[in-house]
Amino acid sequence: MAYDVEKDAGRKIDAPVIMFENVSKSYQKNMPALKNVSFEIRKGEFVFIVGASGSGKSTLIKLITREIKANKGKVFINGRDIGRLFRGKIARYRRGIGVVFQDFRLLPDLNVYENVAFAQRVIEAPAKEIPNRVAKALAIVGLSDKQKSFPDQLSGGEQQRVAVARALINNPTLLLADEPTGNLDPSNTREIMKLLEEVNRRGTTVVVVTHNREMVNSMQKRVIKMDRGQIVSDASKGGYRYV
Ligand code: ADP
Ligand code: MG
Repeated sequence: MAYDVEKDAGRKIDAPVIMFENVSKSYQKNMPALKNVSFEIRKGEFVFIVGASGSGKSTLIKLITREIKANKGKVFINGRDIGRLFRGKIARYRRGIGVVFQDFRLLPDLNVYENVAFAQRVIEAPAKEIPNRVAKALAIVGLSDKQKSFPDQLSGGEQQRVAVARALINNPTLLLADEPTGNLDPSNTREIMKLLEEVNRRGTTVVVVTHNREMVNSMQKRVIKMDRGQIVSDASKGGYRYV
């Protein structure tokens, strides 16, 4: 029988935004990228995922976006078992999630306005609403005066702010950022982090993968630390250190 997302609506109310239940993922036989990982992230949290390269951070993010599927265990997003989502439902599911990457991934032939508006067109937002929404998103990221610029005319920090605006414009309940400041200098790193904090203050649950110890330790947020496919510490109360 087809899985009915709407029928699940009643379960969503108190469910964590993200719940991993004994999740394992291997890309190749006997080489698990994630081993029996369980954790929860609740609505409104701001969480850092840290750990050495290869420890499984991006795998965790890709399981949430349903780019990949768990071999074992379950991933629930807003109470929904996304392992059971059929192909045809995945695109719609992803509309509820904003994603920001290290390499920005803007469309080079579109200007700033069009890059952000594009996300609205994909979800078939009413055409007459789009200009206002784009203007609002660009105001939030402080780029109202760069609407007509093309990505190659912007600094790395500005490009990443466009990417954040694009991730936000569809009002996601969840914003995922996989090393969003990996290509930025310290001052732009601080700006992007302040912006993600602001997005979180407005009610969006935010998950940020990063290597930046100094920044993590200055921000006093929950820190989930990964090592070789497992969570080795989760400072949901106190601590908040990346050591
Ligand atoms: P991180 O983001 O923490 O650097 P990843 O989640 O990207 O780690 O990778 C975890 C492990 O899975 C690594 O050993 C990596 O080599 C492996 N891996 C990741 N993606 C693939 C893939 N597409 N094919 C095969 N192995 C992969
Ligand atoms: Mg990674």
